[in-house]
Amino acid sequence: MESVSEHYNSMVQAIKRYAPYVDMAKVDQAFHYAENKHKDQKRKDGSPYIIHPLAVAEIVAEIGLDTDAILGALLHDCIEDTDSTFDEIVHLFGQTVADLVEGVTKLTRVQYSTTEEQQMENLRKMFMAMSKDIRVILIKIADRLHNTRTLEYQTPEKQLSKSMETMEIYAPLAHRLGMQKIKWELEDLSLKYIDPDGYHEIMVYLAAHEKDANQFMRTIQTKITTRLSSVGIHGSIYGRIKHVYSIYRKMKTQGKHIDELYDLYAFRVIVDTITDCYNVLGHIHDLFNLVPGRFKDYISTPKPNMYQSLHTTVIGSEGIPFEVQIRTWEMHQTAEYGIAAHWKYKQNVNNHGDEKEYEWIRRLLENQQDTEAEDYIHSLKTDMFDDEVFVFTPKGKVISLPAGSTPIDFAYAIHSAVGNSMVGAKINNRIVSYDVTLKNGDIVEILTSKTAKGPSRDWLNICKSNQARNKIKQWFKKEKRDENIVRGKASFEAELRLNSINPSVLQNDELLAQILKKVSFDTLDDMYAAIGYGGLTAVKAVNRIREELLHAGKATPPVQPKEEIPFNLPAAPAANKQSQRKNSGIIVEGIDNCMVKLSRCCTPVPGDDIIGFITKGYGVSIHRKDCPNAASAKDPAMADRWVHVSWADSSTEPFATSLEIDCSDRDGMWLDIATIMTSLHLKVTELSGKDLEGGKAIISMTFEVKNIEELNNVRNRLRSLPGVTNVRRGRT
Ligand code: MN
Repeated sequence: MESVSEHYNSMVQAIKRYAPYVDMAKVDQAFHYAENKHKDQKRKDGSPYIIHPLAVAEIVAEIGLDTDAILGALLHDCIEDTDSTFDEIVHLFGQTVADLVEGVTKLTRVQYSTTEEQQMENLRKMFMAMSKDIRVILIKIADRLHNTRTLEYQTPEKQLSKSMETMEIYAPLAHRLGMQKIKWELEDLSLKYIDPDGYHEIMVYLAAHEKDANQFMRTIQTKITTRLSSVGIHGSIYGRIKHVYSIYRKMKTQGKHIDELYDLYAFRVIVDTITDCYNVLGHIHDLFNLVPGRFKDYISTPKPNMYQSLHTTVIGSEGIPFEVQIRTWEMHQTAEYGIAAHWKYKQNVNNHGDEKEYEWIRRLLENQQDTEAEDYIHSLKTDMFDDEVFVFTPKGKVISLPAGSTPIDFAYAIHSAVGNSMVGAKINNRIVSYDVTLKNGDIVEILTSKTAKGPSRDWLNICKSNQARNKIKQWFKKEKRDENIVRGKASFEAELRLNSINPSVLQNDELLAQILKKVSFDTLDDMYAAIGYGGLTAVKAVNRIREELLHAGKATPPVQPKEEIPFNLPAAPAANKQSQRKNSGIIVEGIDNCMVKLSRCCTPVPGDDIIGFITKGYGVSIHRKDCPNAASAKDPAMADRWVHVSWADSSTEPFATSLEIDCSDRDGMWLDIATIMTSLHLKVTELSGKDLEGGKAIISMTFEVKNIEELNNVRNRLRSLPGVTNVRRGRT
């Protein structure tokens, strides 16, 4: 049995070799902490548990990650398996390390229970989305690699289920992150348990042919080496047999025996420069016969996962075809360790802000236009997942919904019958309210009842997905015709009054016929019903028939005089009162149902101190108390036009507001601002800027927020961007 000190030394060697910048004192501190926490636990083979975190840390060091990631690896099972807490880890090792450990813990808790292809893709995306920091995934992959290496100690059932999971989740993730070496090892180890016979058949064949194979590889290697040194190219040549799973897959997809397989051998020539790569290619094609149609130039067109090399297949005098991959050392590093290779690069440039974190992804985005690459980047850059949330049904099916979705969206995503008979919802086994926002990895359960009353109209404001909204509207359309007619009539007539049209015009039969034709309804009730369930808005309906109405209006007084509009509108039906207030989000003292407008000069949002100004003809205009335009409130001559207003406390509607950003006109500034807004789920409606002298710029941005806290958060985030000197409210 291997000892703890052997594993410890082996980790230290890996750190010295691949991650020499790592802070060893911290590593030791984390090691002792974890060893103590796990001291009473054993692995399945009977060895001390700490060997596992040590081995994971060693893999993390090998792929060249940083101090925090190695600490995260050492501590990765502490929260899940010991009495250690998140706060304790923050206290001892800092926020970043604690976040990494917690991230890995969350992934550990995700249940894998299906093999459906679409589900797999969603699960992989969920992993990405849940790991706000890409290092979480890298540690999790290292964790899985070590567990896979030691699978022999598990029960046969566990061996199979873990291997399936590895093959379907972790190997594709490693591939997507460009980590070939780890991907191959995961695949080979898993195949052993998924198809033991197939695996052994290949192993037996390879063992039987090992001598010949080695002889062949040496011959080819010598030929290439001799040629390259004769022309003065400095390069390293390696021969290998392709990994077991790739042979297996070829046998399966081509329906062939291993004997008949075309290319079992691959050679790798690693040189110093790109020019050398192409020179070597010429020499290879000179030395051997080219197999047509197999040449690929991944240097000029890298693969989506950043892989670069020249590939060619040739055949020598031995009559055995083989593949040659030609690349530089830098490309080699990327091919083996993918995204982590870039991490290493980041270490060297000594950067600690978030700013450069995704720099290379952006570079890649700029360089590559094909959609596959964009998909890849999309799946990599975890905050780009902010437009989607992935949750589970109680049976483990993954459902993907728009970010911000609620149990209502979930219910309708399952089936409209589930949504329509919903009487309650549970998240992770706890009863929740309908307006809770779902989080990645939540297990959502919908409680239904045959006697459910059906959806409520509030749901239309709560749900996020169009799917749910449409299904709810459908239900109202079908089930609530009478109610719809009443509601539709009320809002249609209110809209008429807003347009200074007396609803009594509808009593004119001739006009009514014209109107119905124009809006394509058979009866007035049909139109009211459509407005009532939300299929048509009252504003649209009135706009469409405005001409007819005005025309008729001339002939049919009594039209309400314009002066009465818009204050103290005729009381709308009671049902409308609430929504009216909700829409503006403002309560005007002493005036019910008045028209309210948020001023464009200072764009107030909930939480700002506000005051209202009674305009001539446009209702009450709302200003921030510190808006220059509100100064006249102190002027006695104007005082009677200023009214007290307050924010309705339960508004969920977003408010448009503006900020001005003083900043340097450095590269990437716009992208950084856009990235912040995306990551905060905020809708930007306007973004413009102008360059000033001396490398300065002013960027103005209009966007929607729910309240002052959200706005302040945006301001703080923007202020922390490099090059930003000031962030002001308002607009130019
Ligand atoms: Mn583990």
